[in-house]
Amino acid sequence: MIIGIDLGGTRIKGGLVNNGFLIDTEIIEAESDNEFKSQLPKLKKLIDSLLKRNNLTRDHLSGLGCTFPGIVDSIQMKILSTNVKYRGAPDVDLSGWILGTYNLPFAMDNDARVALLGEWQYGAGKGIDDLVMVTLGTGIGGAALMNGQLVRGKHFVAGCLGGHFTINYQGSECQCGNVGCVEAEASTWRLPQMIRESTGSGNSPLLRMEQVDYRLVFELAKEGDRLARDIREKSLKAWAFGIVNMIHAYDPVRVIVGGGIIHQNGEIIPDIQKIVNQHSWTPWGNVNVVKAQWPDHNAILGCEYLLNNSALQNK
Ligand SMILES: [Zn+2]
Repeated sequence: MIIGIDLGGTRIKGGLVNNGFLIDTEIIEAESDNEFKSQLPKLKKLIDSLLKRNNLTRDHLSGLGCTFPGIVDSIQMKILSTNVKYRGAPDVDLSGWILGTYNLPFAMDNDARVALLGEWQYGAGKGIDDLVMVTLGTGIGGAALMNGQLVRGKHFVAGCLGGHFTINYQGSECQCGNVGCVEAEASTWRLPQMIRESTGSGNSPLLRMEQVDYRLVFELAKEGDRLARDIREKSLKAWAFGIVNMIHAYDPVRVIVGGGIIHQNGEIIPDIQKIVNQHSWTPWGNVNVVKAQWPDHNAILGCEYLLNNSALQNK
């Protein structure tokens, strides 16, 4: 049995996993605008709570896995870089803290990579060794599996910056320093600005709301709201062209789309598939775009595989 911790931009999810089955899960608010260091007591509380309510102790665990929304050295188990969330994370010795607190084997990687592992082993990618994962949420995550191997690259950057592929060189500045990134064109963090910058939008309720998310946008689009329909179309194009870039880079058989946005709005997949079919250069056929099977838990399930196959079992 292992515990996986999925550090997201909005929420931190913890889960108890045994042989690919999620036994229990607990979710806490991320407060990721705060320093990363201040999260450690919360992580301990989350782990201890999962153990306690299942009548377990750390001796029942074979390891702890963790995902992070940034660039992660999965050999040294070190966070190398974070974008805006979890300030100061690279200065925190998370693996040292886990070892000191629980004395258990530890494994860590980028969140979309671990989500891909979860879907590959237990979900929408089962049996397929050439996959791309895209997660649509606060930001846009990416990961690639080629010939059954996660693509990591020399500096752990490869594949996981799918959300920062430029799709519009005249586009908006991204939080990462680049311009026209997929997530700078369409993502939950970008949504309020997309609404503010819209022109000729009439009296859409979106203009009067303090908090907006894609669930609302897609609901209003269904009702015929013009601004919501414009944002829906623009966003689907941004995500689909981002996926086309991932396809051209990593030559997958299947693209799995996960993340909070897709969980709530899975019906957008056929529209994305249509754009992908039109614009991908894949003479062998069409890349199959599918919704993640476990959009809520794939990264937690993936932690188990990551731990079992970790290059460095650092107990
Ligand atoms: Zn960017």
